[in-house]
Amino acid sequence: MKPVLIIGAGWAGIAAALTLRASQIPFRVFEAAPSPGGRARSLPWQGQVLDNGQHLLIGAYHETLRLLAQIGWQENEVLLRQPLTLTVRGERDSLELRAPALPAPLHLAAALLSAGTLPWSERVAALRMALRLQLSGYRLAQDISVRALLQQQRQGEKISRLLWEPLCIATLNTLPERASGQVFLNVLRDSFGQAAGDSQLLLPKVGLGEMFCERAMRYLNQGQPDSVILRQRVEALLVKDNTLRGLRVNGTQIDTEQLILATAPEAAARLCGEVPALQLLAAQITQLGSQPIVTAYLQYPPACRIPQVMLGLDGGIGQWLTDRRIAGQAGLIAVSISAEGPHMALDNTQLCTRLHAEIGQHFPDWPEPEQCQVIREKRATFDCRVGIQALRPVNQTPLPGLWLAGDYTAGDYPATLEGAVRSGVQCAQQIIDSRK
Ligand SMILES: Cc1cc2nc3c(=O)[nH]c(=O)nc-3n(C[C@H](O)[C@H](O)[C@H](O)COP(=O)(O)OP(=O)(O)OC[C@H]3O[C@@H](n4cnc5c(N)ncnc54)[C@H](O)[C@@H]3O)c2cc1C
Repeated sequence: MKPVLIIGAGWAGIAAALTLRASQIPFRVFEAAPSPGGRARSLPWQGQVLDNGQHLLIGAYHETLRLLAQIGWQENEVLLRQPLTLTVRGERDSLELRAPALPAPLHLAAALLSAGTLPWSERVAALRMALRLQLSGYRLAQDISVRALLQQQRQGEKISRLLWEPLCIATLNTLPERASGQVFLNVLRDSFGQAAGDSQLLLPKVGLGEMFCERAMRYLNQGQPDSVILRQRVEALLVKDNTLRGLRVNGTQIDTEQLILATAPEAAARLCGEVPALQLLAAQITQLGSQPIVTAYLQYPPACRIPQVMLGLDGGIGQWLTDRRIAGQAGLIAVSISAEGPHMALDNTQLCTRLHAEIGQHFPDWPEPEQCQVIREKRATFDCRVGIQALRPVNQTPLPGLWLAGDYTAGDYPATLEGAVRSGVQCAQQIIDSRK
C-alpha cells in the first residue's frame, strides 16, 4: 500500500506519525509552516526562544508523556513536575490551594479543607460538590454552563471567583457563563478524581518545539528521510467517484488510500468544503467556532522573580503569570489571557502598560519592563460552549480512507495538547488495525 499521508505537523499530526512509525507503516507529513508545532510551537525572539503561548500540562496527559518517552526524553529533562498548588491573588483577597501527597480524592479534600483564605462554609460546600461529582461519575444529565453548574452546586462567591472560574477559563478557554459544564467536569475528573499524580502540574523547561514537534521531526526523518516536510501547503484533497485518491501540493498530485487531515478546524473545514461528500462535515466543523488566547512576555531584570512558578491574578486583565526562569529565562514573565474579553480592544502598547500596572500591584519594587512582546492567537481553540460535544466530529469521515485528527475531534478533553495527541494516536491506530 502507498504511504499514509498526513496533513499538518502539529501535535496531532506528529502523534499520528510517531504511532505509524512504531508499527513500521510508511507515511509522509506535509506541513505548511516553516516549522512544525502549529498552535504549540516555538519562535525566535531577541536571541531567545519564545513559545506562541505559555502551555501547562498535567500528570493526566498520559499519551503525551508516552510519546515524549518514544522520542527519547526523560520526563524531568523537559518538564518540571509540581504538586497541585494554585495561588491566586486579588486586590482584596487571595487563594492558596495545596494538595498534599495523599491518594485521590483525599488530596483534593485535604487541599480544599486547608484553603485557609476561604470561608469555612465555602470549603465545606466545595467538598460536598466534589463528593457528589464523584458519586455521579462526573456526568450531567444535560449540559449546562459552568456558571449554572456552580450555582446548582451552591458554590460560594469567593471560591467561584478565585478557583472554579479561573480554572474554567484556563482549561476550556471559554467564559464560565457559556462554557460547557460537562467538559469542565471531564477536566475535574481527570485532574482531581483519578490518581494523585494526574493532578500534578507539568511545566515545560524547554521550548515547546524542542520538547516535542521539532525533536519528533528529527527523530522521524532519521528513520525515514523526508517523512516530515515543511513549507508544503496542501491545496486540495483529491476525490474521484466518491473515492479518496490523494492530495495536491505545489500543483502535484500525490496518491494514497489513507490520509489523516491533522490541521486546525478552520483549515480542515476549508479542505473538506471543496469535496461534495464532505460538505456537511465541513459545515459541522465550522460551527465549532473559536476563542482567542493572548500571551504577553514582559522582560524584567533577572533579579525579578515571582515566589511560585505560576501565580493567578484576580480582578484585572492578566490571568496567570508564569516565571520563565524554569526555562532558563530569568526575569521573563509570561502573562496568559484566555478567552474573549475587554483586552481584545487594547493595542499591544496599551496592553503591556496595563499588564505592567497589574503586576506592579503585587510586586511594587519591579521597574518598568525592558521589553514586551505580545502574541495573539485569534483562533487558539474551539469555542468550548454548552452543547459543543455534540458538534465534535469523530476521527472517521464519510469518505473511506480519510481521517480527522486534532484537538477538536470527539473526545472528553477541551482543546489541549493531550486531546490533540490522543486524536492523532487514535487515527493512526485505526489505520494500523485496518491493515492487519
Ligand atoms: C496560546 C495557546 C495556549 C495554549 N495553552 C495550552 C495549555 O496550557 N495546555 C494545553 O494542553 N493546551 C494548550 N493549548 C492548546 C494546544 O496548543 C492545542 O490544542 C494543540 O496544539 C492543537 O494541536 P493540533 O495538532 O490539533 O492542531 P494545530 O496545532 O493547529 O496543528 C495543525 C497544523 O496543520 C498545519 N496546516 C494547516 N493547514 C495546512 C495545509 N493546508 N497544508 C499543510 N499543513 C497545514 C498548521 O500549520 C499546523 O502546524 C494552547 C493553545 C494556544 C494557542
